[in-house]
This record gives sequence, C-alpha cells and structure tokens, in this order.
Amino acid sequence: METLNGNAVAKVLKESIKTEVLALKSKGVKTPHLAAILVGSVGASMTYVAAKEKDCHEVGFDSTVLRFPETITEAELLAEVEKINNNSAIDGLIVQLPLPKHINEKKVTETISWKKDVDGFHPMNVGLMFKGLPCFLPATPYGIIKLLEHYKIETTGKHCVIIGRSDIVGKPMSALMLQKNCTVTVCHSKTKNLKEMTLQADIVIAALGIPEFLKGEMVKEGAVVIDVGITRVDDASNPKGFVLKGDVDFASVSPKCSFITPVPGGVGPMTRVGLLLNTLDAIKRNQDLRSKM
Ligand code: NAP
Repeated sequence: METLNGNAVAKVLKESIKTEVLALKSKGVKTPHLAAILVGSVGASMTYVAAKEKDCHEVGFDSTVLRFPETITEAELLAEVEKINNNSAIDGLIVQLPLPKHINEKKVTETISWKKDVDGFHPMNVGLMFKGLPCFLPATPYGIIKLLEHYKIETTGKHCVIIGRSDIVGKPMSALMLQKNCTVTVCHSKTKNLKEMTLQADIVIAALGIPEFLKGEMVKEGAVVIDVGITRVDDASNPKGFVLKGDVDFASVSPKCSFITPVPGGVGPMTRVGLLLNTLDAIKRNQDLRSKM
C-alpha cells in the first residue's frame, strides 16, 4: 500500500506555478490576482480564506480579501461581485461559502463572470466541463485528477465508484473520471446495496461527509481509495478541541489498498492547488485573448 501524499505533490505543483508566474512576469504579463469575498466571521470560512491568501503569496500571486459584515444585503453583495467582474486588475474571484441564509448562493455564484469563476461553479463552466472543453474545473475534482496523474495511476478501463453526488465534488468528479476512460458509478444516499458497488470498484472516491463510513470489508484487494471527506469531530484530548476525520476508515481500508489518500494531507492540499492552477489559467487565457485582439 502506498499513501498518496497530497502535501508533497501540492508542493511540487506550487513550485512549478511559481516558476510560470516569474516567466510570465518576465514577458511583461501582469501578476495573477485572486480576489476572495468573505461574508461574516464563521471560523472555518475565515481559516479557508486565510489559507488561500497564504497560497497566493507563496506562488507569487496578488490576493485581495474583501470582507463584509453578515448584515450585507443580497443586492449589495451582487453589486460587489459586479464591481470585481469589471475590474481588469483581478483575474479570478471566489466567494467563500456558505453565505448567510438571507443571501441566495446560486444567484451569487451565477453573477460571478464565468471568465473569472476560478471555483468552476458557474453553469457555463459546468457545461464546458461536461463537454470536455477548456474551462475552470472545480478545485477538488481537479486536484484529485492531478494527484492520480502524478502517481501515474491507471484509469483507462477501470471501474470508478464515487460516493456522493454534490455539485462541487461527486458530479464533476464523475465527468472527469469518464473523460479519464473509467466506467463510472455514482452512489448517493438513496443507493441500494452500496457495498456491492464499492466491492466492484478499482477506484473508490468517498465524498459524503460521514466520518469513517467506508470500511475495509467494503473495498476489494488492490483498490485505489481517495478520501475527500473532512469532518470536524469533537475531541477534548486535542488542543484544538477537535480532530479532522475523513470518510474512510483508514485503519481497516488501507491494508487492502494499492493506493490511499490520508486525511489530512491528501485531497485537501490538492484542492488548494486546483484553485491556484485555475487562477494561473485565467491570466494565461486573458493574455491569449489580448494577443489575438
Ligand atoms: P454534500 O454536498 O453534503 O454531499 C454529500 C453527498 O453524499 C450527497 O450526494 C449525499 O447523497 C451523499 N450521501 C450522504 N449520506 C450518504 C450515505 N449514507 N450513503 C451514500 N451517499 C451518501 O457534501 P460535499 O460538499 O460533496 O462534501 C463531502 C465531504 O467532502 C465533506 O466532508 C466535505 O467537508 C468534504 N470536502 C472536502 C474537500 C477537500 O478539499 N478535501 C473539498 C470539498 C468537500 P444525496 O445527494 O442523496 O443527499
């Protein structure tokens, strides 16, 4: 069994992004600039945005975080999004979710210009992705593909079982694994005999948000197991008061696997790199457009 080291692969990819940024700058191209909108002061959201800011600085991107109080109205937030859409200094925009209940997340996501939608949530990017055309891929599935490619894991002809059908992980993952020539089965909360499905899988991608759901008895010998889940579980013995758990019971599953991702240190850092790759792509595309004008 080999552990897929997301931290190490993310480091390699970040180095190559950094090199590309320097090369672009030496050709007179502007510094890639990622903007993030953060509404309110939810601890997890603040942590995620701070991590994204740190990543940007590490690879030489500019980053701006626009912070708004939880009382911001939907109309005001949409106006802020439009301002960034029209600001040519900014290449990519993310709005940290979840948003307060009085704001329609779908409306906000769809107001972001699809050309700056580096989270890949806009319907235009989703459509392009399903057609296999150039687009911004959602960061988590993008990061997982990069991880599989880095370790040269064979996908052609393999049966990939995905647990979870969310818009940000399960559904886009199914499209990407299909493009990697897998036979894909997508399971969800209404799936009957889920164990029968996972036992047939050469590759299992668990993205359901239930800690340690996938047990050793549910996977076949030699399977590749990708654990997307991250759940904070209370743990008084930990200084933070919680521990992060994946959707895979690592202790029982790992002895049967050929490859497995740990939590933390597997998919999480690759997701962060996915966002950086999209932001770099945004500036390259804009540059390409400018050169054709
Ligand atoms: P989500 O929107 O809550 O979707 C969960 C999916 O799992 C749904 O499709 C649901 O089915 C399915 N599901 C729930 N219970 C199930 C069961 N007992 N059997 C089979 N399927 C079941 O979650 P998400 O946003 O995709 O995230 C999933 C997990 O990944 C969470 O722990 C999240 O924190 C984590 N995550 C991690 C990263 C990362 O960077 N590592 C990124 C994104 C998400 P229905 O559709 O039928 O309800």
